Amino acid sequence: MAAKRDYYEVLGVPRDATPEQIKDAYRKLALQYHPDRNKSPDAEEKFKEISEAYAVLSDPQKRSQYDMLGRAGFNQQYTQEDIFRGVDFETIFRDFGFGGFGDLFDMFFGRGGYGGYGHRKTRGNDLVYELRISLEDAFRGAEKEIEIPRNETCKDCAGSGAAPGSSPRTCTQCGGTGQVQRVQASGFARFVQITACPACRGSGSIIDKPCGACRGSGVVKARRRINVKVPAGAEDGMQLRLRGEGDVSPDGGPPGDLYVQVSVTPDSRFRREGPDIYYDLKIGFPQAALGTEATVPSLEGPVKVTIEPGTQPGTLIRLKGKGMPRLTGFGRGDMFVVVSPVVPEKLTPRQRELLRELAKELEQPVRERRRFGI
Ligand SMILES: [Zn+2]
Ligand SMILES: [Zn+2]
Repeated sequence: MAAKRDYYEVLGVPRDATPEQIKDAYRKLALQYHPDRNKSPDAEEKFKEISEAYAVLSDPQKRSQYDMLGRAGFNQQYTQEDIFRGVDFETIFRDFGFGGFGDLFDMFFGRGGYGGYGHRKTRGNDLVYELRISLEDAFRGAEKEIEIPRNETCKDCAGSGAAPGSSPRTCTQCGGTGQVQRVQASGFARFVQITACPACRGSGSIIDKPCGACRGSGVVKARRRINVKVPAGAEDGMQLRLRGEGDVSPDGGPPGDLYVQVSVTPDSRFRREGPDIYYDLKIGFPQAALGTEATVPSLEGPVKVTIEPGTQPGTLIRLKGKGMPRLTGFGRGDMFVVVSPVVPEKLTPRQRELLRELAKELEQPVRERRRFGI
């Protein structure tokens, strides 16, 4: 692994930089390396590096620890999880004008755990749930109750894995650390290899009488009902992250997250493009020529629209602010009525006669112009 760089150097700020300077530097670099914008292969790694530097230097306590210990010492004391804990990237990115943050957390930590051997805790699994909603729900915002199967802490043993009345004992082989060191000598060099303790499999404790309900794992399968708030203006494919609602950790670490993937069912009346919606209005072609009024459905009930005389196929009538709410919380998109004059497929003899007459009438000026060669 490459040598880890100094956090100040990563952000390109002096050691006595003010919080504003640090934030500014991070903003500039984040704009440059955000994986949504920068598709080069090392952008993700770079983005992670600057975010880590920012997480440390923006927190007065972590910063002073870092100033004292340096990078190597600091990284011994703080796990990745510790470093990113308490940093509200969501708000920061919203201020920067960036979108969804859920995926970035996976990028920082990887799905499913912080890894490592021994007593370092494993994070519970993230879960994904697909939630189907109607366009109306997306318009108004909705609260939905969902039921998800997930791993929860066993109630019988409170997660210890030991049968009620007993408790796990500290592993004697590793003294509860969950790790053992193996020293290998090769010539003049000595290597210290740290591996998970084979006796307790890295947990640091041994259970003599396993709990019956969870067979010693401390975790049981359960179905849990959760209320999910879908914001007004929710878009198809958007992910809502419910922190800590995923699987419980198998070893007392933090729980995973639940990602609710919103799927908006296509509406039979409206087509949606971002915050705007489209409605196809079919009218008779005489009405398009003469002009008329029509009533069309909208997200808030019927509205009247005026069709101007001489309206052409594909004409858009804009109903300002009648579209979907914007996810930013400010304002709404527009509704567009797409006017399509329809040519009748079958005609009665009377209609045919009238149309022939109309056709003759419409042709007259054309024929006259031809005759005079203009
Ligand atoms: Zn149990
Ligand atoms: Zn052990």
